[in-house]
Amino acid sequence: MSTAQTLVEMYEAMLARFGHQGWWPGDGPLEVCIGAILTQNTNWKNVEKALNNLRGARAVSISALHQMDHETLAGLIRPAGYYNIKAKRLKNFIAHVYESYGEDIEAFLDRSVSTLQQELMPINGIGRETADSIILYAAERPTFVIDRYTCRIMVRHGLACLEDDYEQVKDMFETSLPEELDLWKDYHAQIVAVGKQYCRPKAKCDGCPLESFPHDPAADQFIQ
Ligand code: SF4
Repeated sequence: MSTAQTLVEMYEAMLARFGHQGWWPGDGPLEVCIGAILTQNTNWKNVEKALNNLRGARAVSISALHQMDHETLAGLIRPAGYYNIKAKRLKNFIAHVYESYGEDIEAFLDRSVSTLQQELMPINGIGRETADSIILYAAERPTFVIDRYTCRIMVRHGLACLEDDYEQVKDMFETSLPEELDLWKDYHAQIVAVGKQYCRPKAKCDGCPLESFPHDPAADQFIQ
């Protein structure tokens, strides 16, 4: 079976198990951007608490976040963890948007994948995965998001090597799958569901929706 066919069949198996995931949670593109920054190294429940605090403080706008002092912002997003670092990252992102586009997050996002990547990546604290999450889920432009779950599952299924970097794994998905925005959005969400429930550092293959595909749960033992 070709890589493309395998990836499509893996998606179908995950979709059949979990149903469409409807990602990304968040009310509007700015909340999606904020969530993408806050979700680094924490779970979504904690991000949701931080977002609720921001909503309660009427702080979900570019100008409100831009004007807010660091301590107040860090206090509001405290439930998301690493709140001082994340407050700085969020302020960096907001300052970048504000300086060029004012309140208009839609105008900032309404550009090509490569343009957005070139603008987002140099912002201090916006890594490759966060930039792609913002582009895929907030800008709704086709770019595939790679995270540690994706790498772990692909290595265990022999579709990626331990040495492959972000771009190589991303390229495999983008050249194998039809360029369909909803498919790319939901594919990443399905991978996260498998990664959280089954493909943990110690794999629980029994009952996993990808169990019928050839796999070696110890293939990544050196990078867990
Ligand atoms: S838990 Fe096992 S079957 Fe499921 S994705 Fe990981 S290696 Fe594959």
